[in-house]
Amino acid sequence: MVFGTYKEVVCARSTDKDIQKASQDGGIVTALFAYALEENIIEGAIVAGDTEDPWKPEPTIAMSREELIAAAGTKYTFSPNAIRIKEAVRQYGLEKVGTVGTPCQIMGLRKMQSYPFSTRFVADKLKLLIGIFCTENFPRDSLKTFIDGKMHSSLAATTKMDIGKGKFWIDTIDGKEGLKIKETHGYEQAGCNICRDLVAKYADVSTGSIGSADGWSTVFPRTEGGYDIFQAAVEAGVIETKPMDEGKFGLELLEKLANSKVNKGNDERERRAGLGLPLPQEF
Ligand code: SF4
Repeated sequence: MVFGTYKEVVCARSTDKDIQKASQDGGIVTALFAYALEENIIEGAIVAGDTEDPWKPEPTIAMSREELIAAAGTKYTFSPNAIRIKEAVRQYGLEKVGTVGTPCQIMGLRKMQSYPFSTRFVADKLKLLIGIFCTENFPRDSLKTFIDGKMHSSLAATTKMDIGKGKFWIDTIDGKEGLKIKETHGYEQAGCNICRDLVAKYADVSTGSIGSADGWSTVFPRTEGGYDIFQAAVEAGVIETKPMDEGKFGLELLEKLANSKVNKGNDERERRAGLGLPLPQEF
């Protein structure tokens, strides 16, 4: 099943104006972590924080709502959040940690939890894994190359990045610019070409914009723990929900794109296998 296992799927958004303003789409990652922190479900969350270099995210251990809001918004280049898990547990002394990642990062964390070689007494401290939908990801230098060269702008002038309606979008001080997504394919991380998970199937809760209207996110609470936290956040009024649109731009669109990622990944895997190249194992 291309969506993996899940308890429900809904459109959702944060009801907090500060989170809405700072976040991508419905602000679900920030809202859920902020709620989990407040309720002591987690004691800290490892998120992609900003640095002095524009669009060069750095894993940050956020322990307050303010730190979460400061790190909000999607960055289309990697933040290796896993590298700070040991530090969060051993140096910060956190017993309950949350983190967010792309589907491949979440898969890595689940493998770490299943086979905790060199991460004993660390992997079990991960209490909330939020996965973000991912169609592709770019090395920062590649982002810079096509934003400079094809979009005639710069990372420094970019205030927001987004993928939607077949284009890679940037908001800049001069307005909004879009580049056809097929023109960005050559700049992706090489591993993205064999990736078959768009919806972060192994997360506790996964979320992304595809399938929902602007300002809302599609959300899959998946595990018991993820479902309980999400439901509690909804009941507390920090997240509001509405049913998914079953039409062309709702779940149907998400399914179409998720299937197309599986097919693309399978084709490339077949091609690489034919060349005798090694392929990573999935679950
Ligand atoms: Fe990871 Fe797949 Fe996204 Fe690439 S496309 S960043 S491999 S989840």
